[in-house]
Amino acid sequence: MDDTSPNTPASGAPAPRPADTAGPDGWHPRTTLIHAGTRRSGFEETSEALFMTSGYVYGSAEAAEHAFANDGSRFVYSRFRNPTVAMFEDRLAAYEGYGRCFATASGMAAVFAAVMALVGAGGRIVASRALFGSCLYIVKDLAPRYGITTELVDATDRAGWERALARPADLVFLETPSNPCLEVVDLAHVTALAHAAGAKVIVDNVFATPVLQKPRAFGVDVVVYSATKHIDGQGRCLGGAILCDGEVAATLAVFLRHTGPAMSPFNAWVLLKGLETLELRVRAQCEGALAVARFLEGHPAVARVAYPGLPSHPQHDLAARQMAGGGPLVAFDLRGDGEETKARAFRTMNALGLILISNNLGDAKSLITHPATTTHQRLSAEEKAELGISPGTLRLSVGLEDPADLIADLRRALDAAH
Ligand SMILES: *Cc1c(COP(=O)(O)O)cnc(C)c1O
Repeated sequence: MDDTSPNTPASGAPAPRPADTAGPDGWHPRTTLIHAGTRRSGFEETSEALFMTSGYVYGSAEAAEHAFANDGSRFVYSRFRNPTVAMFEDRLAAYEGYGRCFATASGMAAVFAAVMALVGAGGRIVASRALFGSCLYIVKDLAPRYGITTELVDATDRAGWERALARPADLVFLETPSNPCLEVVDLAHVTALAHAAGAKVIVDNVFATPVLQKPRAFGVDVVVYSATKHIDGQGRCLGGAILCDGEVAATLAVFLRHTGPAMSPFNAWVLLKGLETLELRVRAQCEGALAVARFLEGHPAVARVAYPGLPSHPQHDLAARQMAGGGPLVAFDLRGDGEETKARAFRTMNALGLILISNNLGDAKSLITHPATTTHQRLSAEEKAELGISPGTLRLSVGLEDPADLIADLRRALDAAH
């Protein structure tokens, strides 16, 4: 957001006019997603330009010296900054209301950088137990190798958060709604406790998407995304983002510059196009997810549906306060016990004709996964039970198909499998 003076285009092309760097002042969120951060080149293109370049040239040795003395005033190397990547960063930062966005090569690169830049040896992390598998690896397995201690808390255990944060901490890391069972963490409650304990709060906002949940409004210091999911929304490329302000941003800028998990300009260009339609897509996916969740709740083969947008969700009221919709993901448990339920879950998945089997999520195409044998396979039976994952648990990422077709597909598959 600090760059309003892009490099002068090569000879012949006029320098961009100041108006060409779009500012989000007074725009509604949907407009921001389409125009914020735009940097037009001298060719006055409508669609954002794709700058596939690693480096930049200088008109003179003096200009190069000046560029390095005035850090950030122009593009010097695409590990630090690139015009296409900067457009993506500025657009997402404007939408989220944070001062800075750093784009990364993947969601995990964003999580790793945010955690490692903000805590060091002797530090203490308090994290929710219900985390995306690789995030759990970073806080639970990797961080302790660097002299950091990590305490895990059940996402919905208010007293547990209070106990863990009664002692000083450096970092709180959480995901809400959580993967795969969609538990909701009270952001205002945990953020207040964290700040009183001296900790910065990082929220993995992937399941809520930037559209439905604004962690900054609850005082959250850092938001991380896997842009691979709903931001791309069409299953094409990997990407990640870190959003933050002030001192945290200054710390992260140095960490990222020297460790190099930069986003490719090509992926940034794809993701910029994803941002343009993000609100429309996520709203349509929420509508579909609610319809599917209601259908599943009424089907005799289904024991339990976890969807924050349904009144039956144990934290429905909290979700309604914290999120502008139930989200694009639905988790449900099939009736039965043990191995027979697993077989039933597999039969159901195999009988689907439209919904695809995939551990990915956030695509225009609806995707279903069996967490116990895929995304959470590494966990012990006990750990799975703690997260609410049974052999009959299925996670559905609702896409952009007509909800009636998704329901027909699920009905056919559930009836055939039971
Ligand atoms: C996918 C995902 C990640 C990791 O993102 P990648 O882009 O796959 O590296 C992190 N957190 C959550 C909640 C995710 O769904």
